[in-house]
Amino acid sequence: MVSQIELVEVSARDGLQNEPEIVGTEAKLELIARSVAAGLKRLEVASFVNPTKVPQMADAAEVMAGLPKNDGATYIALALNRRGFERAAEAGAKEVNFVLAASDAFAMRNSGAPMLGLVDALAEVTPLARAANIRVSATISVAFGCPFEGETPAETVADLVRRAADAGVFEVALADTIGVGAPSQVRDLFARAKAAAPGVQLRAHFHNTRNTALANALAAVECGVRVIDGSLAGVGGCPFAPGAAGNVPTEDLVYMFERMGIATGVDLDGAIEAARFISRTLGKATPGMVSKAGGFPKAAVQA
Ligand code: MG
Repeated sequence: MVSQIELVEVSARDGLQNEPEIVGTEAKLELIARSVAAGLKRLEVASFVNPTKVPQMADAAEVMAGLPKNDGATYIALALNRRGFERAAEAGAKEVNFVLAASDAFAMRNSGAPMLGLVDALAEVTPLARAANIRVSATISVAFGCPFEGETPAETVADLVRRAADAGVFEVALADTIGVGAPSQVRDLFARAKAAAPGVQLRAHFHNTRNTALANALAAVECGVRVIDGSLAGVGGCPFAPGAAGNVPTEDLVYMFERMGIATGVDLDGAIEAARFISRTLGKATPGMVSKAGGFPKAAVQA
């Protein structure tokens, strides 16, 4: 078992993108600052997508421009195509996450290109990124199941991991976009991913749509994955299941792993405060549990 993991904080992007409320740039920057202060040093903060389709991300360039410089944190911008990558690069991104999909139907719906068309676009972007000193990761969405095509074949996921590695990414994330995965599937898919791309760092992205995200995160770490995505307060509801829970809550991950003796580098009370900031900003209760109960044995921080 590993003794240390890295948590990637995705609330400012994946979290807020999938909430109906539109959060202003200043509040996003405050959330990011609170996250970094709590010890979250790698954060997904913006998505360079069509602002008419995704109004929550319309201020992507403003968020990038407002980020603190030289604070030791790594900020990730999302891109779905070459144009998005170019906009992220213009905005000063040093790390770009390129989104692939493990089904044609989801790829067409989310990115307007078939599954392998997205791989071609990634292969077009990676040389540009290398020249601009930008590192590129890939996320394989719907790796655990697709809202349109049903079960995702494990062979498809392994093939995409291999293709992403061939395109030159430093890291591949397997994403349970609609929260249908179970721990046995996590073990199977990450074993296949490791075999398909032994030199590439693996990362896991779970949604708690069906309450399996924490179990899946543990399974991933148990099989050697060292990078896990989380979203403070558990925001980021599933667009295909209205009213469902969101991403796995960061503070719940911190609590569980730290209590197991696996270091996250994150201060639990700081994470809880940042999670409560999100709830206040959205003006509603959020799904995370540890932010309500507080840590143990230390007393909960006061709201
Ligand atoms: Mg997500």
